[in-house]
Amino acid sequence: MLTVPRLQTALVLFHLAALSVGWLLGWEAGLLAMAGVHLPLLAITLWTGSTPFCLALQSCPIPGRSIVLTIDDGPCADTPGMLAILAQYQAKAVFFVIGQRAASHPEWIHQITSAGHEVANHTLTHPAGQFWAWGPTAQRWEISETNRILTEAAGHSPAWFRAPAGYRNPFTGAILQELGLQYLGWSRRAFDTRRSDVAKMVKRLCHRLQPGAVLLIHQGHPHSIKLLEELLKTLAAENWITHLPAGTDKS
Ligand SMILES: [Zn+2]
Repeated sequence: MLTVPRLQTALVLFHLAALSVGWLLGWEAGLLAMAGVHLPLLAITLWTGSTPFCLALQSCPIPGRSIVLTIDDGPCADTPGMLAILAQYQAKAVFFVIGQRAASHPEWIHQITSAGHEVANHTLTHPAGQFWAWGPTAQRWEISETNRILTEAAGHSPAWFRAPAGYRNPFTGAILQELGLQYLGWSRRAFDTRRSDVAKMVKRLCHRLQPGAVLLIHQGHPHSIKLLEELLKTLAAENWITHLPAGTDKS
């Protein structure tokens, strides 16, 4: 099993090996050996799908013509509105929430779970630009502290984790194992943090959709409510139903 101490030991050994190459064969060879250690690690870190160090579920084995809808970056002021639209379409979603926001508004977490949706861990502070570069201590704090906040607010510990922007390094998978979390990636995303054309985003999300697909949208943007409404309208028209991922079946 991959554990944080084993990964740390392996990294130290690889660096020592690269330094030894440099000492024995000259700095050019040492530089190449160091690149040989770091480039694969960088590639693994910047890949948002499954890696040897962290399996990412990107589609779910769920029954029938179903998909998993995930909503990132809340809870925020539009949470009650999002919940009202989900109720209108009898849809279920996994809310990947930010721990600090959940701690400030536990009532929104309570509303989400009371309506039969799932809350999941999306780190404490959403450090999108740095999380992938952090060591195990800082990553563990972001994840475990959010687990504590969500357990207090929801009455049970979350089952799923998603890294900010999807980038995580080899330590992340070992920490998730320690904390009993699984990584849920996505198979379609709206790019709704950068775009605002709702019709185009819905088309992108629904084009040739496959059963078990995991869709990713965000909340907290001016178009978030409209995007959710139009997405659910299109899914309903095409006879898709939303389903929670296996292990969190409340639908
Ligand atoms: Zn996010």
